[in-house]
Amino acid sequence: MIRFALVCANGHEFESWFASNESYDFQIANKLVSCPYCNGTDIAKAVMAPAVARAVGVPAKAPKQNVALLGAADRGLRDMARELHQKIVAATVDVGAEFAREARRIHDGEAPERPIRGQTSPEEARALLDDGVEIMPMPATPEDLG
Ligand SMILES: [Zn+2]
Repeated sequence: MIRFALVCANGHEFESWFASNESYDFQIANKLVSCPYCNGTDIAKAVMAPAVARAVGVPAKAPKQNVALLGAADRGLRDMARELHQKIVAATVDVGAEFAREARRIHDGEAPERPIRGQTSPEEARALLDDGVEIMPMPATPEDLG
């Protein structure tokens, strides 16, 4: 949520909350925001830094995703990405959040060698790669979006 200080065409100042900058732009462009004093819909941002609100424990906005729109000739790649994902899922055991610990144990010979998949933080993934554990990111599928 972002709080913006707003001002109407008559100079009334007020504040309003928006889900995002995009949400603000959309609502202003479609005159969905009205001045609480005069009901005017000619609204602009007042000159003030927006306050960003984040409740304790609520994660920051997810990073942007890499996406592609393929041409007709390459449409099969979309199915290949999905197939690759499915093959990896079929070939591995899901160890969930234990991935980093388990991958390290396998690498160190403390656990039986077997294909696994799971979740890890970027920091843990980098540490594993630095230690020579040959992990790879799971290929994303169209269904992973959204
Ligand atoms: Zn007004």
